[in-house]
Amino acid sequence: MPITNRQISKLFKLGASLLELNDDNQFKSRAYENAAFAVRQFGEPLVNMTDAELEKLPGIGKTLSNKITQIANTGSYEELDRLLELTPPGLIELLRIKGLGAKKIKTLWMEAGITSPEGLLQACLDNRLVDIKGFGKKTQDSIIELIHFFFENKNRFLYAEAESEMNEVLKHLENHESVEKIAYTGEMRRKMPVIDKIEFLILLKKGKNLEDVLKEAEESITVSEDGYKTTYMDIPVFFWELMKSEDWAEQLMRTTGNEKHLALLSKDSFQKAQSEEDIYAKNNIPYIIPEMREGRDEVEIMQGIKAEDIIKYEDLKGCVHNHSTYSDGANTLQEMALYCKGMGMQYFGICDHSQTAVYASGMKPYKVHEQWKEIDKLNAQLAPFKIFKGIESDILGTGALDYEEDILKQFDFVVASVHSNIKMKEEDANKRLLKAIENPYTTILGHMTARLLLQRPGFPVDHKLIIDACAANNVVIEINADPHRLDMDWHWYSYAMSKNIMFSINPDSHETGTMANMYFGVCVARKGGITNNRVLNTFTLEQIEDYFNRKKAGTL
Ligand SMILES: [Zn+2]
Ligand SMILES: [Zn+2]
Repeated sequence: MPITNRQISKLFKLGASLLELNDDNQFKSRAYENAAFAVRQFGEPLVNMTDAELEKLPGIGKTLSNKITQIANTGSYEELDRLLELTPPGLIELLRIKGLGAKKIKTLWMEAGITSPEGLLQACLDNRLVDIKGFGKKTQDSIIELIHFFFENKNRFLYAEAESEMNEVLKHLENHESVEKIAYTGEMRRKMPVIDKIEFLILLKKGKNLEDVLKEAEESITVSEDGYKTTYMDIPVFFWELMKSEDWAEQLMRTTGNEKHLALLSKDSFQKAQSEEDIYAKNNIPYIIPEMREGRDEVEIMQGIKAEDIIKYEDLKGCVHNHSTYSDGANTLQEMALYCKGMGMQYFGICDHSQTAVYASGMKPYKVHEQWKEIDKLNAQLAPFKIFKGIESDILGTGALDYEEDILKQFDFVVASVHSNIKMKEEDANKRLLKAIENPYTTILGHMTARLLLQRPGFPVDHKLIIDACAANNVVIEINADPHRLDMDWHWYSYAMSKNIMFSINPDSHETGTMANMYFGVCVARKGGITNNRVLNTFTLEQIEDYFNRKKAGTL
């Protein structure tokens, strides 16, 4: 699998942290840090570039271009290997705890001899951090929370990462001469945003042995002491091996739904079932799509709708909430819009960051005007395809949006999101969001809790209160389709549906390549049973134009 810019960025970031920990040259550490950022922002895959081309890139230069070549060839670079050797492994684990950082870890190591997450937790519980300069009781409490989150999520994987690993395995096994039939199942089939393992149901041809077959798929799967793992990310893989093809439907059913869901079905109904549909029919239950089989309210949801009504990727007609080089995106507005058009979409919404988001090159009013001019020009060329003038406005600490009214009213639509000061008590978070929702210019509430899966929990909010307010103010709720976010969480979709909420499945893409991430938004939307008529970007160009206009006029 070719190495992505993101992976190179990660290795540089690790290098920077290890230099800092090992007290190496400060400037060098900073250079890696900057390169990690530059690499991530870069639009083209760096592994396809020559040394000479790499050297010329801003923030890279000769030394680092050489490292990129090393990474492309070996998956690492010499200096990183040397640093890894020098560093106690527990410290590297500590670096993986988001929100701690190399500087703090170094102090903890030097001052208190802490070299592992377990050691750090113990030190906190013994109240030993309060005496270290720069720490104190409050920091200690927040570190305890961070470590708990870390332990809970250790050895778990993002769906999106697991899916590409899973597809590699499938590619090797699907057409294998010894394999009669194979399908993925379990958490992956339920499209859980975060998973522990990849499961397959497999039926081999008579007399064939699973281990022999897997040996031929070693590019994608390895056999280790503790079982099978994917080669690249070491995700555990489990095979349910079937002996008889007659058992296929039954076993697919049993391995997909969780226990609570399976408890809804009578045991007899499984026997000799021809298909999953068959099993539901025998139980007098409408067919439940695999994603929804969680034993929650899926039967109730499906009573009033048909499985075909649930949102599909093909239903999407546009892509709103994207960034460009006007703020922190890697591609130009034109590149983004053309790419979107090339995906077969009818419209594209640009939502660069607003002025307060300095860290993300948020747009000052003059820049907004420049962007509008360019949009008008592009729209004249690209018609009937249309670029909508949007903005991702920061929700300021007070709940206000980030521009004066004379600018706000000129946008076609506004995505309002929280990006800074995200450590809030629930009460304060509710107030801040409510204020933004009540602002007549807010069209869409962006990534509601600012969570990053496996990295940090979102801030606490009263979901029902916020959903009710969105319903009362005709504010669309975003399903942020970035696989790290998937925020608002799917557990709340059915409640929101009952309040007639509209959703928007937004990739929040910062480069052309991630626009297709809308697919991951669709996965969780299906999981929560959202129907296609509740998704804003299934609207045709005319419909969404009309929607934006009526929202602005207050006549929705
Ligand atoms: Zn955002
Ligand atoms: Zn964004």
